[in-house]
Amino acid sequence: MPAAPDSAPPRWCDLHLHSNASDGTDEPADLPRLCKAAGLSAFALTDHDTVAGVAACAAAAKKQKIDFVPGIELSVDPDVDGTGEPAGTLHLLGLFIDPGHPWLGEITQALTRARAERNPEIIRKLSGLGVRIAYDEVLDLAGPGTTVGRPHIAQVLVKKGYVKSVHEAFAKYIGSGGAAYARRDLMTAKEAIKGVHAAGGLALLAHPVQLRLPDEDRPGEALAHVVGRLKAQGLDGLETRHSDHAPADVARFEALADRLNLLTTGGSDYHGSRKSIQLGHAAVPRGVYERLRDEARRRWGPGRVVAGRKP
Ligand code: AMP
Ligand code: FE
Ligand code: FE
Ligand code: ZN
Repeated sequence: MPAAPDSAPPRWCDLHLHSNASDGTDEPADLPRLCKAAGLSAFALTDHDTVAGVAACAAAAKKQKIDFVPGIELSVDPDVDGTGEPAGTLHLLGLFIDPGHPWLGEITQALTRARAERNPEIIRKLSGLGVRIAYDEVLDLAGPGTTVGRPHIAQVLVKKGYVKSVHEAFAKYIGSGGAAYARRDLMTAKEAIKGVHAAGGLALLAHPVQLRLPDEDRPGEALAHVVGRLKAQGLDGLETRHSDHAPADVARFEALADRLNLLTTGGSDYHGSRKSIQLGHAAVPRGVYERLRDEARRRWGPGRVVAGRKP
Protein backbone atom coordinates (compact mmCIF):
# COMPACT_ATOMS: atom_id res chain seq x y z
CA MET A 1 0.00 0.00 0.00
CA PRO A 2 1.54 3.37 -0.93
CA ALA A 3 2.35 5.66 1.97
CA ALA A 4 0.10 8.69 2.43
CA PRO A 5 1.67 11.79 0.90
CA ASP A 6 3.41 14.06 3.43
CA SER A 7 0.94 16.83 2.64
CA ALA A 8 -2.10 14.80 3.78
CA PRO A 9 -3.04 15.90 7.31
CA PRO A 10 -3.59 13.17 9.91
CA ARG A 11 -7.25 12.19 10.03
CA TRP A 12 -8.01 13.11 13.63
CA CYS A 13 -8.72 16.22 15.66
CA ASP A 14 -9.41 16.99 19.33
CA LEU A 15 -11.57 20.03 20.01
CA HIS A 16 -11.69 19.99 23.83
CA LEU A 17 -8.42 20.43 25.75
CA HIS A 18 -7.34 22.13 28.96
CA SER A 19 -4.00 23.74 29.80
CA ASN A 20 -2.57 25.02 33.07
CA ALA A 21 -4.37 28.31 32.37
CA SER A 22 -7.26 26.41 34.00
CA ASP A 23 -7.18 22.91 35.51
CA GLY A 24 -4.98 21.13 32.98
CA THR A 25 -1.31 20.58 33.75
CA ASP A 26 0.44 21.38 30.43
CA GLU A 27 1.79 24.74 29.38
CA PRO A 28 -0.38 26.14 26.55
CA ALA A 29 2.75 26.46 24.37
CA ASP A 30 3.50 22.73 24.77
CA LEU A 31 0.10 21.50 23.60
CA PRO A 32 0.65 21.82 19.81
CA ARG A 33 3.72 19.55 19.99
CA LEU A 34 1.90 17.03 22.18
CA CYS A 35 -1.10 17.06 19.84
CA LYS A 36 1.09 16.41 16.81
CA ALA A 37 2.81 13.56 18.62
CA ALA A 38 -0.65 12.13 19.36
CA GLY A 39 -1.41 12.06 15.62
CA LEU A 40 -3.79 15.02 15.53
CA SER A 41 -3.98 17.60 12.75
CA ALA A 42 -6.23 20.13 14.50
CA PHE A 43 -7.11 20.94 18.10
CA ALA A 44 -8.93 23.50 20.24
CA LEU A 45 -7.82 24.95 23.56
CA THR A 46 -10.95 25.23 25.73
CA ASP A 47 -9.88 26.23 29.22
CA HIS A 48 -12.55 26.76 31.88
CA ASP A 49 -13.68 30.39 32.01
CA THR A 50 -10.43 31.82 30.62
CA VAL A 51 -8.64 32.57 27.34
CA ALA A 52 -5.31 33.30 29.09
CA GLY A 53 -3.56 30.40 27.32
CA VAL A 54 -4.85 31.06 23.80
CA ALA A 55 -2.18 33.48 22.52
CA ALA A 56 0.79 31.31 23.55
CA CYS A 57 -0.92 28.19 22.22
CA ALA A 58 -1.78 29.85 18.89
CA ALA A 59 1.82 31.02 18.40
CA ALA A 60 3.21 27.54 19.13
CA ALA A 61 0.60 25.93 16.85
CA LYS A 62 1.73 28.15 13.99
CA LYS A 63 5.33 27.01 14.49
CA GLN A 64 4.27 23.36 14.67
CA LYS A 65 2.03 23.78 11.60
CA ILE A 66 -1.02 22.27 13.26
CA ASP A 67 -4.51 23.76 12.86
CA PHE A 68 -5.57 25.59 16.01
CA VAL A 69 -9.00 26.66 17.24
CA PRO A 70 -9.13 29.39 19.90
CA GLY A 71 -11.76 28.33 22.41
CA ILE A 72 -13.20 28.55 25.90
CA GLU A 73 -15.42 26.35 28.10
CA LEU A 74 -17.96 28.41 30.03
CA SER A 75 -19.86 27.17 33.08
CA VAL A 76 -23.47 28.33 32.81
CA ASP A 77 -26.71 27.90 34.76
CA PRO A 78 -28.13 24.45 33.92
CA ASP A 79 -31.67 25.63 34.59
CA VAL A 80 -32.34 26.67 30.99
CA ASP A 81 -36.05 27.38 31.36
CA GLY A 82 -36.40 28.40 34.98
CA THR A 83 -38.22 25.24 36.07
CA GLY A 84 -35.85 24.25 38.86
CA GLU A 85 -32.25 23.24 38.79
CA PRO A 86 -31.24 19.92 37.21
CA ALA A 87 -28.62 17.91 39.09
CA GLY A 88 -25.83 18.23 36.59
CA THR A 89 -23.61 20.86 35.05
CA LEU A 90 -24.00 22.80 31.83
CA HIS A 91 -20.78 23.71 30.04
CA LEU A 92 -20.77 25.65 26.79
CA LEU A 93 -17.86 25.50 24.39
CA GLY A 94 -17.06 28.65 22.44
CA LEU A 95 -14.98 27.68 19.40
CA PHE A 96 -13.22 30.07 16.97
CA ILE A 97 -13.66 32.96 19.40
CA ASP A 98 -11.59 36.11 19.13
CA PRO A 99 -9.70 35.94 22.46
CA GLY A 100 -9.24 39.73 22.45
CA HIS A 101 -12.97 40.47 22.23
CA PRO A 102 -14.13 42.83 25.04
CA TRP A 103 -17.03 40.56 26.10
CA LEU A 104 -14.57 37.77 26.88
CA GLY A 105 -12.41 40.20 28.87
CA GLU A 106 -15.40 41.28 30.94
CA ILE A 107 -16.93 37.86 31.47
CA THR A 108 -13.68 36.11 32.37
CA GLN A 109 -12.95 38.83 34.95
CA ALA A 110 -16.42 38.43 36.46
CA LEU A 111 -16.00 34.64 36.55
CA THR A 112 -12.62 34.97 38.25
CA ARG A 113 -14.24 37.19 40.91
CA ALA A 114 -17.02 34.64 41.41
CA ARG A 115 -14.43 31.88 41.92
CA ALA A 116 -12.49 34.09 44.32
CA GLU A 117 -15.64 34.21 46.47
CA ARG A 118 -16.70 30.58 46.04
CA ASN A 119 -13.35 28.86 46.60
CA PRO A 120 -12.69 30.30 50.09
CA GLU A 121 -16.27 29.34 51.01
CA ILE A 122 -15.42 25.73 50.16
CA ILE A 123 -12.27 26.02 52.31
CA ARG A 124 -14.39 27.36 55.21
CA LYS A 125 -16.89 24.52 54.86
CA LEU A 126 -14.06 21.98 54.82
CA SER A 127 -12.62 23.55 57.94
CA GLY A 128 -16.02 23.18 59.63
CA LEU A 129 -15.75 19.46 58.88
CA GLY A 130 -12.30 19.28 60.45
CA VAL A 131 -10.56 19.20 57.07
CA ARG A 132 -8.02 21.97 57.36
CA ILE A 133 -6.34 23.32 54.26
CA ALA A 134 -5.31 26.90 53.56
CA TYR A 135 -6.52 28.65 50.42
CA ASP A 136 -2.92 29.78 49.85
CA GLU A 137 -1.93 26.13 49.40
CA VAL A 138 -4.52 25.85 46.64
CA LEU A 139 -3.36 29.07 44.97
CA ASP A 140 0.28 27.94 45.17
CA LEU A 141 -0.56 24.61 43.59
CA ALA A 142 -2.61 26.23 40.80
CA GLY A 143 0.10 28.79 40.01
CA PRO A 144 -0.29 32.42 38.98
CA GLY A 145 -2.81 33.48 36.34
CA THR A 146 -4.78 30.23 36.55
CA THR A 147 -8.54 29.68 36.69
CA VAL A 148 -8.56 28.18 40.19
CA GLY A 149 -11.14 25.47 40.62
CA ARG A 150 -12.25 22.46 42.56
CA PRO A 151 -9.73 20.12 40.88
CA HIS A 152 -6.94 22.17 42.50
CA ILE A 153 -8.68 21.96 45.88
CA ALA A 154 -9.11 18.21 45.36
CA GLN A 155 -5.41 17.80 44.67
CA VAL A 156 -4.48 19.59 47.91
CA LEU A 157 -6.90 17.29 49.79
CA VAL A 158 -5.12 14.29 48.28
CA LYS A 159 -1.68 15.75 49.00
CA LYS A 160 -2.57 16.32 52.64
CA GLY A 161 -3.94 12.82 53.01
CA TYR A 162 -7.57 13.76 53.69
CA VAL A 163 -8.71 11.64 50.73
CA LYS A 164 -7.11 8.95 48.58
CA SER A 165 -8.10 10.37 45.20
CA VAL A 166 -9.51 13.38 43.37
CA HIS A 167 -12.61 11.27 42.76
CA GLU A 168 -13.05 10.72 46.51
CA ALA A 169 -12.55 14.46 47.13
CA PHE A 170 -15.47 15.24 44.81
CA ALA A 171 -17.70 12.44 46.04
CA LYS A 172 -17.17 13.11 49.74
CA TYR A 173 -16.60 16.86 49.94
CA ILE A 174 -16.64 19.20 46.97
CA GLY A 175 -18.89 17.62 44.31
CA SER A 176 -22.47 18.91 44.01
CA GLY A 177 -23.77 16.50 46.67
CA GLY A 178 -20.67 16.81 48.86
CA ALA A 179 -20.53 18.15 52.42
CA ALA A 180 -18.38 21.16 51.51
CA TYR A 181 -20.01 22.00 48.18
CA ALA A 182 -20.52 25.67 47.48
CA ARG A 183 -22.27 26.86 44.36
CA ARG A 184 -21.29 29.96 42.46
CA ASP A 185 -23.50 32.37 40.58
CA LEU A 186 -23.59 31.37 36.96
CA MET A 187 -24.55 33.31 33.87
CA THR A 188 -27.48 32.12 31.82
CA ALA A 189 -26.91 29.99 28.74
CA LYS A 190 -28.62 32.69 26.69
CA GLU A 191 -26.10 35.31 27.84
CA ALA A 192 -23.17 32.96 27.19
CA ILE A 193 -24.36 32.04 23.69
CA LYS A 194 -24.93 35.70 22.81
CA GLY A 195 -21.46 36.60 24.11
CA VAL A 196 -19.74 33.78 22.24
CA HIS A 197 -21.44 34.93 19.04
CA ALA A 198 -20.41 38.53 19.70
CA ALA A 199 -16.83 37.27 20.09
CA GLY A 200 -17.06 35.61 16.67
CA GLY A 201 -17.39 32.07 17.98
CA LEU A 202 -19.68 29.09 17.62
CA ALA A 203 -21.50 28.00 20.80
CA LEU A 204 -21.78 24.25 21.43
CA LEU A 205 -23.14 22.24 24.33
CA ALA A 206 -20.25 20.32 25.97
CA HIS A 207 -20.59 16.70 27.16
CA PRO A 208 -24.42 16.44 27.34
CA VAL A 209 -24.17 13.43 29.70
CA GLN A 210 -22.95 15.75 32.44
CA LEU A 211 -26.37 17.43 32.49
CA ARG A 212 -27.40 14.23 34.27
CA LEU A 213 -30.93 14.40 32.92
CA PRO A 214 -33.38 11.82 34.28
CA ASP A 215 -33.97 9.89 31.07
CA GLU A 216 -30.35 9.51 30.09
CA ASP A 217 -30.71 5.95 28.86
CA ARG A 218 -34.30 6.22 27.64
CA PRO A 219 -35.46 8.05 24.50
CA GLY A 220 -33.81 11.27 25.63
CA GLU A 221 -36.83 13.56 25.63
CA ALA A 222 -35.48 15.57 28.56
CA LEU A 223 -32.28 16.19 26.63
CA ALA A 224 -34.22 17.04 23.47
CA HIS A 225 -36.19 19.58 25.50
CA VAL A 226 -33.08 21.23 26.97
CA VAL A 227 -31.27 21.26 23.65
CA GLY A 228 -34.38 22.65 21.93
CA ARG A 229 -34.46 25.49 24.47
CA LEU A 230 -30.76 26.16 23.94
CA LYS A 231 -31.23 26.13 20.18
CA ALA A 232 -33.93 28.76 20.53
CA GLN A 233 -31.33 30.79 22.42
CA GLY A 234 -28.85 30.44 19.55
CA LEU A 235 -26.96 27.22 20.28
CA ASP A 236 -24.97 26.09 17.24
CA GLY A 237 -24.27 22.49 18.08
CA LEU A 238 -23.57 19.54 20.39
CA GLU A 239 -20.40 17.82 21.57
CA THR A 240 -21.35 14.33 20.48
CA ARG A 241 -17.95 12.63 20.92
CA HIS A 242 -16.36 12.94 24.37
CA SER A 243 -14.39 10.71 26.72
CA ASP A 244 -17.46 10.36 28.97
CA HIS A 245 -19.67 9.22 26.09
CA ALA A 246 -20.26 5.54 25.40
CA PRO A 247 -20.78 4.57 21.73
CA ALA A 248 -24.55 4.50 22.34
CA ASP A 249 -24.39 8.08 23.69
CA VAL A 250 -22.49 9.25 20.61
CA ALA A 251 -25.14 7.67 18.40
CA ARG A 252 -28.10 9.24 20.20
CA PHE A 253 -26.42 12.68 20.36
CA GLU A 254 -25.58 12.51 16.64
CA ALA A 255 -29.21 11.60 15.93
CA LEU A 256 -30.44 14.51 18.05
CA ALA A 257 -28.07 16.96 16.33
CA ASP A 258 -29.30 15.68 13.00
CA ARG A 259 -32.92 16.01 14.02
CA LEU A 260 -32.48 19.57 15.30
CA ASN A 261 -30.16 20.59 12.45
CA LEU A 262 -27.26 21.34 14.81
CA LEU A 263 -23.52 21.13 14.20
CA THR A 264 -21.44 18.57 16.08
CA THR A 265 -18.08 18.75 17.82
CA GLY A 266 -15.95 16.35 19.81
CA GLY A 267 -12.94 16.14 22.03
CA SER A 268 -11.15 14.24 24.75
CA ASP A 269 -11.43 16.85 27.57
CA TYR A 270 -7.74 16.23 28.18
CA HIS A 271 -6.47 17.77 31.46
CA GLY A 272 -2.81 16.68 31.29
CA SER A 273 -1.71 14.56 34.23
CA ARG A 274 -4.62 15.72 36.40
CA LYS A 275 -6.93 13.20 34.72
CA SER A 276 -6.18 9.90 33.02
CA ILE A 277 -7.66 10.87 29.64
CA GLN A 278 -5.23 10.85 26.70
CA LEU A 279 -5.07 13.37 23.87
CA GLY A 280 -7.22 12.27 20.95
CA HIS A 281 -9.10 9.78 23.14
CA ALA A 282 -12.52 10.67 21.69
CA ALA A 283 -11.40 9.71 18.14
CA VAL A 284 -12.90 12.72 16.38
CA PRO A 285 -12.50 12.71 12.59
CA ARG A 286 -10.81 15.78 11.13
CA GLY A 287 -13.96 16.44 9.09
CA VAL A 288 -15.68 17.58 12.31
CA TYR A 289 -13.11 20.36 12.64
CA GLU A 290 -13.42 21.24 8.95
CA ARG A 291 -17.21 21.60 9.10
CA LEU A 292 -17.01 23.91 12.12
CA ARG A 293 -14.19 25.92 10.54
CA ASP A 294 -16.18 26.29 7.32
CA GLU A 295 -19.26 27.45 9.24
CA ALA A 296 -17.18 30.01 11.18
CA ARG A 297 -15.67 31.22 7.90
CA ARG A 298 -19.08 31.43 6.30
CA ARG A 299 -20.30 33.65 9.12
CA TRP A 300 -17.27 35.76 9.83
CA GLY A 301 -14.95 35.46 6.83
CA PRO A 302 -11.71 33.50 6.26
CA GLY A 303 -9.35 36.15 7.70
CA ARG A 304 -11.17 36.05 11.00
CA VAL A 305 -10.74 32.31 11.46
CA VAL A 306 -7.18 31.93 10.19
CA ALA A 307 -5.78 34.86 12.13
CA GLY A 308 -7.84 34.22 15.25
CA ARG A 309 -8.96 37.82 15.38
CA LYS A 310 -11.22 40.24 13.58
CA PRO A 311 -9.89 41.55 10.24
P1 AMP B 1 -15.10 24.21 39.08
O1 AMP B 1 -15.09 24.82 37.70
O2 AMP B 1 -14.09 24.81 39.97
O3 AMP B 1 -16.46 24.19 39.69
O4 AMP B 1 -14.65 22.69 38.88
C1 AMP B 1 -15.11 21.99 37.77
C2 AMP B 1 -14.05 21.01 37.34
O5 AMP B 1 -14.09 19.91 38.22
C3 AMP B 1 -14.21 20.46 35.93
O6 AMP B 1 -12.95 20.46 35.29
C4 AMP B 1 -14.59 19.03 36.10
O7 AMP B 1 -13.98 18.25 35.12
C5 AMP B 1 -14.03 18.71 37.46
N1 AMP B 1 -14.88 17.72 38.11
C6 AMP B 1 -16.20 17.82 38.39
N2 AMP B 1 -16.64 16.71 39.02
C7 AMP B 1 -15.56 15.88 39.13
C8 AMP B 1 -15.35 14.57 39.67
N3 AMP B 1 -16.34 13.89 40.24
N4 AMP B 1 -14.11 14.03 39.61
C9 AMP B 1 -13.11 14.72 39.03
N5 AMP B 1 -13.24 15.95 38.51
C10 AMP B 1 -14.44 16.51 38.55
FE1 FE C 1 -11.78 20.71 34.09
FE1 FE D 1 -16.63 20.50 31.03
ZN1 ZN E 1 -13.45 20.53 29.71
